[in-house]
Formats: sequence, structure tokens, C-alpha cells
Amino acid sequence: MVDSYRHKGMRKKLVESIRRKGITNESILEAINKIPRHIFLDSSFLEFAYDDKPFPIGSGQTISQPYTVAFQTEILDVSKGHKVLEIGSGSGYQACVLEELGAKVFSIERQRKLFHKTKEFIANLGYKIKFFYGDGNKGVPSFAPYDRILITAAAPNISDDLIQQLKPGGKLVVPLGSGDIQTMLRITKTADNKLIEESFGDFRFVPLLKDKADD
Ligand code: SAH
Repeated sequence: MVDSYRHKGMRKKLVESIRRKGITNESILEAINKIPRHIFLDSSFLEFAYDDKPFPIGSGQTISQPYTVAFQTEILDVSKGHKVLEIGSGSGYQACVLEELGAKVFSIERQRKLFHKTKEFIANLGYKIKFFYGDGNKGVPSFAPYDRILITAAAPNISDDLIQQLKPGGKLVVPLGSGDIQTMLRITKTADNKLIEESFGDFRFVPLLKDKADD
């Protein structure tokens, strides 16, 4: 992996632009400053890796915009040692940000090719994230319950499975909606299993699909 002074410089600028957009959590900004986002993209896109934009990663999927990664992570409110389930592994970038914050990360992806590619790539980087292939709507019951659940694709609804796999006191963040634009929601499960909903504005994500892809 080549991570040159130029890449590091571009990354610093990216972090400053995310900070200007309102992200204040220093641990998240540090994680973005540390992770070489350019190696998560095809090499032909090197020049774009540090723009604050989403980018295609193959199989019709995207790596989320860095600001969106930072924003979702900030409202997820992750602490060291938390068990976090991510729905939609994609490139694995978001999962690495979560591990940098000290979380134990479990991540599920429905595209088989992407799952294999990302699992191998991230292990080679030295991260300990556990990747699963399957329909994220069903969660990963074998490691439940989770302190935090993060959905990184546009969900038309939140499945009962995911709500069940959330610990009492746990939080789930999801871009909710079936159209082009979704509302970012944070659902908190109280100690007596009630759900509290907070809303954080509009975002655009690729859709969360039903079942596994048939590849
Ligand atoms: N978190 C990713 C970006 C996610 S893009 C990153 O950091 O790069 C959304 C991802 O969700 C895509 O990879 C898509 O294939 C996946 N996805 C869509 N529907 C899914 C489902 N039902 N279960 C699991 N993953 C799903």
C-alpha cells in the first residue's frame, strides 16, 4: 500500500472540510485522518478519493461520502468496547472507522462478490472486523445483542429482527425512506424496551434490498 505525503495532505484537507460541515467528535476526525481512503477505491479514481463525495466501488454500489460516514458515526454515539453491527459492508471503510473508535465490529453484505473482496482486503489491512454474507434485514443473530446497529443503505422500514438484536439501552441509526431522499433516524431502545425516535435531516443512500443478491 502506498500512502504518500500527498495522500496524507489530501486527507488532512478532507478532515478540515468535514469539521467545517459540523462534525465535532475528535476521535472520528482522527479515524478519518488515519484511514487511507484512496486504497478503498479503484486506483483509477485516486484523484477523487479525498473529495467529500460518495464513489462507485463495483457491483453497482458506493462507498459513502466521508461526511455521511462521520455524521452517522457521530449520532451512533459509539464507545470503546461496544458491539456494533453494520448493515451494508460495501467497501468496509465505515467498518474500519468504527473499529478505530474501539468498537467490536460485525458487518453484513448481500452482494457475494463484494463480501469476498471486502473481507479479504480488510483482513490484509489488519482490522479484526467480522464480515458476514447475507440479508442484513435479518441481522446476525449468532452474535446478538448489539450495543449499536448502523444501517448504511436506504431502508424502507426497520425489521423486527434488527430491533430484537438491539440491547436495551442500545441505539440504531438508519436512513429511513423508500424514495430518493431519506430521513436519518436514531432509534433508542429504553431499558424497558420502548423505542424513542429522533430525526436528523435528509440524506441520499443506495437502497437496502430484500434478500441476498443472486450472484
Ligand atoms: N458502509 C459502506 C457503504 C454502504 S453502500 C462503506 O463504508 O463502503 C450500501 C451497501 O449495502 C451496499 O454494499 C449494498 O450491497 C448493501 N446492501 C443493500 N441491501 C442489503 C441487505 N439487505 N443486506 C446487506 N447489505 C445490503
